[in-house]
Amino acid sequence: MGRLLCENDSNKPRAFFTPKTTDDVCRVLQYTSANQHQVSLLGGGHDPKGLAIIHDALVLDMSAMKHIDIDPQTATAWIEAGVNVKDLDDVTCPQGLAAVNGSCTTVGVVGFTLGGGFGFLSRTKGLAVETVFKWKLSLLLASG
Ligand SMILES: Cc1cc2nc3c(=O)[nH]c(=O)nc-3n(C[C@H](O)[C@H](O)[C@H](O)COP(=O)(O)OP(=O)(O)OC[C@H]3O[C@@H](n4cnc5c(N)ncnc54)[C@H](O)[C@@H]3O)c2cc1C
Repeated sequence: MGRLLCENDSNKPRAFFTPKTTDDVCRVLQYTSANQHQVSLLGGGHDPKGLAIIHDALVLDMSAMKHIDIDPQTATAWIEAGVNVKDLDDVTCPQGLAAVNGSCTTVGVVGFTLGGGFGFLSRTKGLAVETVFKWKLSLLLASG
């Protein structure tokens, strides 16, 4: 897990799992729910306290889920949970679009946004979290 930036290595997770699809995520959540294991989500791994790594939990490392769809007409992006700042900029900038994004290329976009997200464009466009129009919460459906 080379991209983890936290200093806290006292939390020892039970296992890491790297899903490639939403179905993979749901299968893991059904397993953890049935077996009463804790689960935690790892995005870009840039939380300084290592919040994504919970002791004895099964860690869902989202880094393989990087799909991005852009609608240039409405300047809207749909991103999967493993997308980082560089991944998003690489797709938006060539199309003349820019997201309220972090200054560090390897920060996870979801983790950045859940923390509010203050970027280069924030003085004119606000926080990243204010640009979100919908969260797709597959996790809530996992038990069904
Ligand atoms: C070098 C550096 C530069 C930074 N620059 C900025 C900046 O310019 N502006 C700014 O606002 N912040 C900045 N930050 C702070 C950064 O936005 C936060 O640390 C953020 O939480 C990192 O997100 P991550 O996904 O990379 O980290 P992670 O450690 O993977 O995740 C952080 C938290 O979000 C949760 N999480 C991640 N993905 C998901 C998901 N899909 N679903 C549910 N929960 C999830 C994790 O469980 C964890 O609790 C910076 C941090 C660093 C280390």
